[in-house]
Amino acid sequence: MRSPAEILIVLLCAPALSWASADAPFDGGGKPFEIDLGRMTTASRSLAAEVDDRLWVTALAPDKRSRTLASEAGFAIEEIRGGAIMGVALPETVDALKAAGIEVLAAVPLLKQFNAKDFPKEDGAYHNYAEAAALLNELAAAAPKLASAFSIGKSLLGRDIPALRLNSSARGPAPSSKPGIVFLGTHHAREHLSTEIPLLLAKHLVDNRDKPDIAALLESRDIFVIPLVNPDGSEYDIEGDRYHMHRKNMRANSDKSVGVDLNRNYGFHWCESGASSNPRSDTYCGTAAFSEPETAAVKAFLEARTNVKILLTYHTFSELILYPWGHTESPIPDAPALAAYKSMADAMAKMNGYTPQQSSDLYVASGDTTDWAWAVRGIFSFTFELSPKSLWDGGFYPGVPAIATTFAANLRPALYLIGLADDPLRAPAADAISERRPGRSGSALDRAPSVSGDGVAGEDRPVAAFGSR
Ligand SMILES: [Zn+2]
Repeated sequence: MRSPAEILIVLLCAPALSWASADAPFDGGGKPFEIDLGRMTTASRSLAAEVDDRLWVTALAPDKRSRTLASEAGFAIEEIRGGAIMGVALPETVDALKAAGIEVLAAVPLLKQFNAKDFPKEDGAYHNYAEAAALLNELAAAAPKLASAFSIGKSLLGRDIPALRLNSSARGPAPSSKPGIVFLGTHHAREHLSTEIPLLLAKHLVDNRDKPDIAALLESRDIFVIPLVNPDGSEYDIEGDRYHMHRKNMRANSDKSVGVDLNRNYGFHWCESGASSNPRSDTYCGTAAFSEPETAAVKAFLEARTNVKILLTYHTFSELILYPWGHTESPIPDAPALAAYKSMADAMAKMNGYTPQQSSDLYVASGDTTDWAWAVRGIFSFTFELSPKSLWDGGFYPGVPAIATTFAANLRPALYLIGLADDPLRAPAADAISERRPGRSGSALDRAPSVSGDGVAGEDRPVAAFGSR
């Protein structure tokens, strides 16, 4: 847990950008697929085919001619120091270097050369990119008939955006006619708790797959967990054993600033109120709607799955449950849908103690995930601003204890939404039944989970200084 003073120091420190990374490969649901390291140059990225066998090579090349020879052999030169060159090469390239008479001094696996970025020691329980991907792979391996891990696409720097699918009859990207639901995490780099909650949800569902309530949900639903939409920004935010307060992705903008706000880059009322066209701004909307590969990947993913009826995108912090619209203060015009949104938001607020409200009640912001998903895809879409409630409770960096407590508060809302994915419009009726019969147990499929009086949201509405959707 960081003290408010420490957080303020972090807030005030402008980050110095630097590049380095390494990520463990993860599995595409039984079959390994490539994963790029997102390193520095186009040259190195173009080499990043099957990552597993790439090498970091040091070779003697004291003059321009030998460096050209090395380059022509396929060596991506990243650094020239003294008479040596260093960079990325495939094993066959190393052979070609030797055949060309170039002395190779060292060739080590790239993944060993560049250690994964990691959280400051006190926050080591959080999952960095490689660990999150590895956990999804482990879950897929633990329940191969139910779970499959795959990539929905590449980030700007070439990292795979990992997903876990829970479906008893369809795997990977295969279509399914079962009602679908998607949980998204970490559009914003520094909101690491929003990676942990969907990860823990996936783990909970897999670990409890044989329990009757969970088994019934898993048998009848098509569930996707995409815990890390912005892997590049997230990795940058934890670089160097300290936090960088980074929000955006890692786009190199024309003015040399870094990053596009992925939650202002979706294509409905793009770059209107509450989004900035200034690249230096933390809410920079990008050069066009869906200009960023991360949002384009989410768009393509949802467009390919017409069975998806509900979407929940996790952010931090402020303890809010938000629903469209965000780009205008007007409510959505579809009255039955609005009633369903309000009923669902209220029901979930009774479970986690958060405050339910229309997204623009917080502030008007255009180009976010939920406005687009609702307006264009007809998907009932919520944003959760997870714990803590305020900057003074830890803000974006609430420490390890927040993981378990936040997950405990947000498991029931997630199960509730999974249960309603067949027909969200039935929420008002289902919630009314639950209200009349509190404490009832049974399948979450045919009704909303019971609502008890505990954890009811207080009347005090939060002052959302940061509420960072
Ligand atoms: Zn956010």
